[in-house]
Amino acid sequence: MNSNKIHINEDLCTGCGTCSAIAPGCFNLNDDFKAEVLENGSCDEESVQMAEESCPSGAIEITK
Ligand code: SF4
Repeated sequence: MNSNKIHINEDLCTGCGTCSAIAPGCFNLNDDFKAEVLENGSCDEESVQMAEESCPSGAIEITK
């Protein structure tokens, strides 16, 4: 999946780390404890969808 299609709503992100645990090659927690999508990350569709569904605050948005 193109990482440009994945967006983190930083206002909603609580920095729980679930997304980076599910897809560590795609999501990273930055120094502010907000998730970010790694540039040139390895974001396979299945893991990204699982992370989106598992995010407790609904902060991950995937555009089609
Ligand atoms: S799972 Fe959601 S709330 Fe948790 S770090 Fe990732 S984007 Fe933020």
